[in-house]
Amino acid sequence: LPKLPVFEAISKHDPESTVVIHSKSGRRFQYGELLGDVAKARDRLYESAGREDLDGERIAFLAENSYDYVVTLLAILGAKSIAVPMSPAFPASELQYILNHSEALMLLATGKFASKAQEVLKTELDVQPTFLQLDKLQGGGPHEKVTLDKSSPGSAGMMLYTSGTTNRPKGVLIPQAAMTAQARSLIQAWEYAPSDHLLHLLPLHHIHGTINAIFTPLFTGSSIEFLYPFNADAVWKRLAAPFTTTPPPDQPKITFLTAVPTIYSRLLSSFKTLPEDLQEPAREAISPAHLRLTISGSAALPTPIKRAWADLSKGNILLERFGMTEVGMALSCGLDPNDRVDGSVGWPLPGVEARLVDVDTHQVIEKGQEKDLETGRERVGEIQLRGPTIFAEYWRNEEATKKEFVEGKDGRGSWFKTGDVAVRRPGPEKAGRSEMKTQREWARGDMYFILGRKSADIIKSGGEKVSALEVEREMLSLPQVAEVAVLAVPSGKWGQKVGAVVILDREHCKEGKWSPLEMRRALKERLAGYKIPQVLRVVDHIPRNAMGKINKKVLVKEVFREEFS
Ligand code: ATP
Ligand code: MG
Repeated sequence: LPKLPVFEAISKHDPESTVVIHSKSGRRFQYGELLGDVAKARDRLYESAGREDLDGERIAFLAENSYDYVVTLLAILGAKSIAVPMSPAFPASELQYILNHSEALMLLATGKFASKAQEVLKTELDVQPTFLQLDKLQGGGPHEKVTLDKSSPGSAGMMLYTSGTTNRPKGVLIPQAAMTAQARSLIQAWEYAPSDHLLHLLPLHHIHGTINAIFTPLFTGSSIEFLYPFNADAVWKRLAAPFTTTPPPDQPKITFLTAVPTIYSRLLSSFKTLPEDLQEPAREAISPAHLRLTISGSAALPTPIKRAWADLSKGNILLERFGMTEVGMALSCGLDPNDRVDGSVGWPLPGVEARLVDVDTHQVIEKGQEKDLETGRERVGEIQLRGPTIFAEYWRNEEATKKEFVEGKDGRGSWFKTGDVAVRRPGPEKAGRSEMKTQREWARGDMYFILGRKSADIIKSGGEKVSALEVEREMLSLPQVAEVAVLAVPSGKWGQKVGAVVILDREHCKEGKWSPLEMRRALKERLAGYKIPQVLRVVDHIPRNAMGKINKKVLVKEVFREEFS
């Protein structure tokens, strides 16, 4: 195997220690068998391709969240190729798009998804990937010594597709060096340790799954447990198991949980229906004494969820971070619970450089210039990022790549325009702040508060700009509102007007009704008049993707259809 930093790290971990646990079956795999299995799988790629030079080739794969997934991902890197993880939940049309767009040389599938893969290959494709069923990957036997040769990692890397929230998914090319930098940054910031046991509940084909839940623990020597598909009762049972009166011997305590707001929300509601004898063990399991870190991201974390989680868990405060496919994790709150300020995604992670660029004047908002001197209002800026963690390019889309990067004036490289806008405020001042620094802790910075996407969450109404996320946050703090999406609705008079799609809280709105007048009254104290939604729709369901994201472009046209005519 080539001398990739991740392979070097793995080769140094205790071979007897656990790398992966399958939650359902309880099956475990050890670090000592991993590289042997990776090397074997890599050799099968060579065999199937009929050549050993696969440098830079795209290899797509379909696999369940499992040890095999990890082996497959690493085997592709080991061939110096570009791994293209695909979601088995995607419809055939989406898989087709990815195979064509990435010009995949091969399509790998584990046994479970072999027929799905074959089906897609039977449809008309612009490319003809070779099919290889990858199963029985494990079985290399422990302690088989794998040597790392001196060869360079070539073009090894990964191509992830964005969630497609605002457009067709884009292919984001992430070289292995950026993957490595991302993992190192998280290890430093979140202090991943070999003693950590991470529970992963989400699909793996996103940056969060591949980097936060696989790559980073592999670098550290931590163990990863896969429990998927998500099932709130099963998660509670698993979390509580080590704290019951008869704890099963082979289920370690979970110390690290990374998920998205909708997952926490579903866990909170399902807690109420847990059998009584599980409730106390479950609360103990998620208390800060045992669950070291509970991380939320991918979408804004509603403060009521954060509060409810803290209450239930005896004080465990969700740590919010901001990430995207193109940059990995970029901003994060700190390990000190006092730094987990409501509504903030924290400050730049180690190695990440961030700046705010005023959306009106296009000037960089320097420290101390966060407020407009004339109006006293906070200046809103686009978040721009640079550093070794940033992606290389949008695959086969030079135009988009060019458009999203701006040259830095200091000659130290170009900035990636995230398209997300935010305000920046000083962090919480408190006595002893510097004393509380742990040895490895990265420097605290001023805190970023995300207002949303420039393209979908900033509503331009009669010359004012309204942040959909801010309105959502205020609406969620009302007892009547269980879930909400705030949208830009076209308006002849205002250009755009603020619209809200709401799921009502059954306890607080018994009749299931909420008039626009009542909403207006309830929001009056919280929001300036122009920010209060002008149109309101009560619904039973707000569609979200697996990561809890709402496609607002689609939703607004569905719900406010008549306003578009
Ligand atoms: P596409 O680019 O295809 O439209 P996408 O941007 O949703 O899809 P991802 O890369 O998965 O695809 O998501 C990144 C986006 O998620 C960010 O640009 C930001 O808008 C949002 N996001 C991530 N974390 C947070 C957070 N903590 N709070 C608010 N928004 C977040
Ligand atoms: Mg995006």
